Amino acid sequence: MTTTLAGPAESTVHGRRVPTGAFIDGGWRPAEKTFAVLDPATGTTIAEVADGTPADALAALDAAHAARSRWQHVTPRDRADLFARAHRLLTERADAFAEVMTAESGKPLTESRAEFALSAEFFLWYTEQIAHLHGTYAPSSHGGYRVITTHQPVGPALLITPWNFPMLMIARKAGAALAAGCPVIVKSAKETPLTCALFVETLREAGFPDGVVNLVHTTDSAGVSAALMADERLRKVSFTGSTGVGATLLAQAAPGIINASMELGGDGPFVVLDDADVELAAQQAVVCKFRNAGQACVAANRIIVHSAVAEAFTTRFVELTELLTVGNGFDPGVDVGPIISARQRDSVLELVDVLHAAGAELLTGGSALPGAGYFFSPTVFRVPGRPEQLCSRELFAPVATIYEVASTAEAVGFANDTRYGLAAYVFTKDLSRAVAVAERLDFGMVGINRGIMADPAAAFGGTKASGLGREGGHDAIYDYLEPKYLALTVDEEEGLS
Ligand code: NAD
Repeated sequence: MTTTLAGPAESTVHGRRVPTGAFIDGGWRPAEKTFAVLDPATGTTIAEVADGTPADALAALDAAHAARSRWQHVTPRDRADLFARAHRLLTERADAFAEVMTAESGKPLTESRAEFALSAEFFLWYTEQIAHLHGTYAPSSHGGYRVITTHQPVGPALLITPWNFPMLMIARKAGAALAAGCPVIVKSAKETPLTCALFVETLREAGFPDGVVNLVHTTDSAGVSAALMADERLRKVSFTGSTGVGATLLAQAAPGIINASMELGGDGPFVVLDDADVELAAQQAVVCKFRNAGQACVAANRIIVHSAVAEAFTTRFVELTELLTVGNGFDPGVDVGPIISARQRDSVLELVDVLHAAGAELLTGGSALPGAGYFFSPTVFRVPGRPEQLCSRELFAPVATIYEVASTAEAVGFANDTRYGLAAYVFTKDLSRAVAVAERLDFGMVGINRGIMADPAAAFGGTKASGLGREGGHDAIYDYLEPKYLALTVDEEEGLS
């Protein structure tokens, strides 16, 4: 609900001060209207933040556009120094970031700490990469001039982030964009704007110039981003979220030929072959499925197990699932926090109904937990056949589905039978078999005998309806750069006289 409340431009969340305005052209601006940020573990309001309008977004674009040339020409060393300072400040604030993230997203504090540490690593990665951007130099085909290729920043970039990884998504995008020399306008997710605010405040304190980093929170995502996408000064959109919204943004990008990177939905197959280490596979499946209460694009969405090990795997997986402690992310020993919102929790209940209707067998869990907060018990179903209603369906919930297959070929065929192509996993003790299967999985990323694989050095992203472009790795920064060719006449004779 949006209220008219021109309150103070900061709140105290879990004892930590967090700016609550919009950040435009180097300053925090309060808004006429605010919206509530809820703690999903209690359902209570923890802060009111500025509810940005399309006009605020365009003011942010004015600032980004004005800063464009200045930021582009900051020397690599000075830009890397800013990044190093930002990395140091971020690291000093690790506890504040983790606590605010847990307060607004519900994830257990241990997961918030791990997400924060990985996010800060991205800043270190880009600090090191800035000075190593390269170009090429070559003679023209028939002589007479030189072909010089360099790179220039694409220009002002809109970065739209989801709520499930509030820090990692913004750090990964902003790190690459800013390192490349693009000013940014961040549009946070309305469920988790506070982590983004702390991040942007830290960059301000590190000394990023006015206009280079801008942040708008809003309950009108569609209106705010449509206004930006229709403005020809915007040159890049980088989005992480659902495939439907990604498609809308791509359509909006088309008229202005806006450069677009998309990290979209997933339907990750977790393949356990007949020679797998069953204990390892079960342990990794639990992490891959129930991390962040199953609300991850790379989560194990379909656990596909060879019939030779299906009984042993399923028994152990259910045992480990039942050991998970569900609760408030601030409580020690909690493994699984709440679902992000009451609406999302209701969609998990609907999913359970769909599974029952499809004839799936409930092995554990299956219900929302009573009391305040949006908790759901870790749930496991054994699914018979290939129900139509589950085809290409991203569960995004603490609900595991186990399917049985009779051969490796059937496992690969079923794994690929989806419109998505983000992350897949394969478990086998035979490395050559692992490679053969991984090469046949039509996915952007394949975890071999491991269920977690995010890293700054890794090119993260998907094929098919899971996206366009990669985040992280050596090449991600080039998603924010375009080649520029310079032709230089050289008079070979003159040069030698
Ligand atoms: P979502 O698409 O509803 O929202 C993502 C972001 O887009 C939010 O900031 C939201 O406010 C904004 N948004 C919503 N409608 C918009 C519109 N019309 N125009 C512009 N922006 C709009 O997704 P979600 O529920 O926040 O996140 C879950 C989805 O994100 C899942 O499908 C998940 O797989 C995907 N995801 C993908 C990755 C990846 O890297 N591939 C990572 C995390 C999440």
